[in-house]
Amino acid sequence: MEPSLEGSFPIDEREECNDTIHHSDVFFSSIKNGTSRFVPIHRDCKHHRLRNACLCHCYYNSVVEKKKATKMSEKQASIGKVLLAWYDQHARILPWRGSQDPYHIWLSEIMLQQTRVDTVMDYYRKWLEACPTLESFAEADEEQVLKKWQGLGYYSRVRHFHQAAKQVIQTYGVDYPKDIQQWLELPGVGAYTAAAICSIAFQRTTPVFDGNVLRVMSRMLEIKENPKEKKVQKLLLDIAKEWMDPQRPGDYNQAMMDLGATICLPNGAPKCDICPLSASCGIAFSDSWRVIPPKKERKVRKVEERTVFIYCVKDKIFLKKRSKKGLLAGLWELPSVSHSSKEIHVEEDLLLSHDIVEKEVLAEPIFLHVFSHLEWRMKVRVIYLREVPLELKGVWASFEDLTEKYSIPTAFADILHWYRTKGEIKIQKT
Ligand code: SF4
Repeated sequence: MEPSLEGSFPIDEREECNDTIHHSDVFFSSIKNGTSRFVPIHRDCKHHRLRNACLCHCYYNSVVEKKKATKMSEKQASIGKVLLAWYDQHARILPWRGSQDPYHIWLSEIMLQQTRVDTVMDYYRKWLEACPTLESFAEADEEQVLKKWQGLGYYSRVRHFHQAAKQVIQTYGVDYPKDIQQWLELPGVGAYTAAAICSIAFQRTTPVFDGNVLRVMSRMLEIKENPKEKKVQKLLLDIAKEWMDPQRPGDYNQAMMDLGATICLPNGAPKCDICPLSASCGIAFSDSWRVIPPKKERKVRKVEERTVFIYCVKDKIFLKKRSKKGLLAGLWELPSVSHSSKEIHVEEDLLLSHDIVEKEVLAEPIFLHVFSHLEWRMKVRVIYLREVPLELKGVWASFEDLTEKYSIPTAFADILHWYRTKGEIKIQKT
């Protein structure tokens, strides 16, 4: 079949073409010496003075190139087949694999955002025991939902997921949206999640682009630019659609993700010797993996020293709710203050007016909690009070409640766990 060059090279990019814009820097794929290696095309462009300058016009107008492109298209299609053959043998065994239930796929994709597969597996199983259907999830109380999510972090994911579930039930009843645009209108559903659900549950040819896929494709096609740039993404989308087997788009997407996670690794050398796509890869067995895709500059995290207070009255511990906006929004926490703020004195003044049974500064260990942009270093002060101070607005929770009822972010749950194992004797004393 004649390939659609129109689709591959959007008009607006060709019109932009001039001597200073090197579209070949983005990449173009070619057949070299009859093999399927993808290499940048470098040859004279009759429209431009510069050698290796933009190739769009040459490529677009040349009959020879069209023929080559046909071959290229055939080779590209075979990439999908080779990949699927590998996937059939080596797919990771994951609890959500094999399910075509949109709720299962949606849940796994939301959990997997920013979270390791190993961590997600257990949460996923327990979640489905508690909320086996989208309806049961949509009807669940938000506090219960947050409690089930406890430890997975990035709580806005589950809040959006919950809102979106309610929206789907309200708008579509027992059915699901099947169109990618409809999914994109739901809270918390981005291009990646929508494409994954539509391809796996509804067999739509919607390629996904997560870090794994972008890395594999960048290396295959020897793209040196940041694959998240818009112009590169556009090209990757065209190519991915050609590689994708329309009979098995969901498997194709999952195969790409598996290849990136297990063979074309994010850290360290890719395992080109066992990669099914090495014959088609632009950088196979070379050192270029060190620079493709280009590494992001790591932002330096801000470090914040904090003191966390464990207020105890008899066998109860004080928890307060975080504000509805910002970091760990709406979750339950132990009161804490940053050393850089004046609040620490306010907290101490408050306690001076109460009958403190005992105060204990727990210097060791210092608890660390790392967010994407921030690191908390926390020391703990345990304060045993004779009676509940009315100024403290929150709840007094038993250990049972801490385990069963309140959603407490890991930063504080770790402290409570440590305190619980060290502190039970103290509680008896009061
Ligand atoms: S051949 Fe090597 S670099 Fe290329 S996709 Fe496979 S693992 Fe990655």
